[in-house]
Amino acid sequence: MTKYIFVTGGVSSSLGKGIIAASLAKLLQARGFTVTIQKFDPYLNIDPGTLNPYEHGECYVTEDGAETDLDLGHYERFLNTPTSQANNVTTGRIYQTVLDKERNGDYLGKTVQVVPHITDEIKRRLQLMDGQFDIIITELGGTVGDIESLPYLEALRQFRWDRGREGCLAIHLTLIPYLNAAKELKTKPTQHSVKELLKTGIQPDILVCRCERPITTAIRRKLALFCNVEMGAVIEAIDADTIYDVPMFMLEENLDRTVLSKLRLLEKHSPKMNKWKAFLKKHKNPKQTINIGLVGKYNELQDAYKSIYESFIHAGAVNETKVRVHPIHSEEIDETNAAEHLKGFDGVLVAPGFGERGIDGKLNTIRYVRENNIPFFGICLGMQCAVVEYARNVLGLDAHSVEMQENTPNPVIDMMAEQKKITKKGGTMRLGAYPCELKRKTKIQAAYKKIKISERHRHRYEFNNAYLEAFEKAGMKASGFNPESGLVEAIEVKEHPWFVGVQYHPELKSTVENPHPLFVAFVKASLENKIANAKI
Ligand code: GLN
Repeated sequence: MTKYIFVTGGVSSSLGKGIIAASLAKLLQARGFTVTIQKFDPYLNIDPGTLNPYEHGECYVTEDGAETDLDLGHYERFLNTPTSQANNVTTGRIYQTVLDKERNGDYLGKTVQVVPHITDEIKRRLQLMDGQFDIIITELGGTVGDIESLPYLEALRQFRWDRGREGCLAIHLTLIPYLNAAKELKTKPTQHSVKELLKTGIQPDILVCRCERPITTAIRRKLALFCNVEMGAVIEAIDADTIYDVPMFMLEENLDRTVLSKLRLLEKHSPKMNKWKAFLKKHKNPKQTINIGLVGKYNELQDAYKSIYESFIHAGAVNETKVRVHPIHSEEIDETNAAEHLKGFDGVLVAPGFGERGIDGKLNTIRYVRENNIPFFGICLGMQCAVVEYARNVLGLDAHSVEMQENTPNPVIDMMAEQKKITKKGGTMRLGAYPCELKRKTKIQAAYKKIKISERHRHRYEFNNAYLEAFEKAGMKASGFNPESGLVEAIEVKEHPWFVGVQYHPELKSTVENPHPLFVAFVKASLENKIANAKI
C-alpha cells in the first residue's frame, strides 16, 4: 500500500519546501523505495503556462506535455525519474473539474460546496498515482494560514483520518530565525505556525527547521515540548552552499529514518548515495573556471532560467569545471556595444522566450559570437534568433520570425501549421516530448553519441523548411529533424567551433545522475575556447 507524506510550510514563503521534499525523496529512493513527489499549488490559474516568469519563475514542462511549477524540475533533477501531469495540481484545475461535473449534471439535486466536493476532488488527485509508488510525497504550495490553502489542509485532515498516521505523515517546514540583538534563535514563530496548523486539525509529526545557525539541544527540546513532536522529529535544515548538499544534511539529521519508522516501513538498506557523492565532490573541487554569458530578458531573476542554471551545474561537474553564468539583459545589447558586453565570455547561451522585447539584442549577440568564433548555444527562441540572424547577415535576406513581424517578406521562422487554427492561449503550444533524429557527422550527434533522441518542447513557431536549401548552401545545417513531420529540431554552423541551436528544451532533462549531453558538450567547447585564447 502506498504511504503518503504531506509537506506544509510555515512562518514564511521561500523556505525551500521543494528542496526538502526532493531531498527526502532522494534518500528514500536511495534506500530502495519507489518515490514520487507531487506539488499542489493553491492559485486559480489552471497551470503556470500563462504566467509571466516575473510572477512565477520558469514554467517546467513534463514528458507528457504538462506546463508545471518549477519545483517539478527539482524533483526530476534529484530523483532522475520523470514526472507527469498527475504531479502538479492547481486550485484552478480542481475547480474546473468540479464545475465541469456540475454543468454535466453529475451532482444533480445537490448543492455543490467546498466541503465535500472540492475536498473530494483534492483527495482524488492526491491518489492519482496510488499503488504505483511505495511513497508519495505531496508538497503544498504557500504558507499555512493562507486563505487559499484551507481546502487542501481540510482534505489532508480527512485523508489522515482515513489512512491513519502510519499511512500518512505530516511534515511541517518552518523557520527558526536568529536575532542578532538577542544573540538567540527564536522558536515563537514556529510555535504560532504549528498552532495555526493545529486549528485545521493537523498535528505535524516532524518539524523541519530552516535556520542560519545550528539549533541547540535546548531549542530542540523546547520545540518538541511546545509543538507536540518527539525530540528526534525536530530536524535541523541549516542554510546550505548548494541545494545538492541538502540530501546529505537530511541524512545526517536522520530525516529519512525518522520518516520510515513513523510510517512503519522496514529499512531495506542504507542509502546508496555513491553517484550523488561523486557528483558533489566534482562540483565542489573544480579544476578550472569558465565564464558563460546568458542572454535573456528576465535576467534579474534566476528562477526564470532555473533549469538552465542547474544544467550548467551538472555539466560543470562532469567537466570538473566551475561554470560561472553571467546574466546579460538582451535589451542592453545594440550593434555598437556587443563586443563590450560579450568580450570576456568563453561561451554564450541565448535563452528561450516569447515576444518582441529584447530580440534585437539577441540578434546582435548572435552575430558577434558567430563572427568571433565564440561557442554558442541557442535554446528555442535562441535557436530561432540564430536562424533569423543568419538569414539577415549571411543570406542577405530581409527576414524575421512571424512571431515578431507578421508580414515579414521572408518568414524564416513561421507559425507551425497546426497552431494556425488555435486561438486559446492556455496549454495549446506544441508541448512535451517528441522524437528527433540527428544527422551523422554533426556536433550535436557527437554530443549525444546516438541518432534517435527524444526531447521536450514548448513553442508555436518553427524553422520554415522552404528556406532549408538556401541555409544549407550558405553553411547553416539542419542537424536534427522530427522523423514524422520533418520539422527542424536543431541547427548548426559547420565552419564554427561550436554553434548549435535547438528548438527543444534540453535543460528540462538534465539531472544530477544524467547531465545533459548538449550542456556537457557546450561547457567542453567553452573550456577549449578559453584554453585556445590563453595560448594566443
Ligand atoms: N516564442 C517561440 C515560440 O513560441 C519560442 C518559445 C520558447 O523559447 N520556449 O516558438
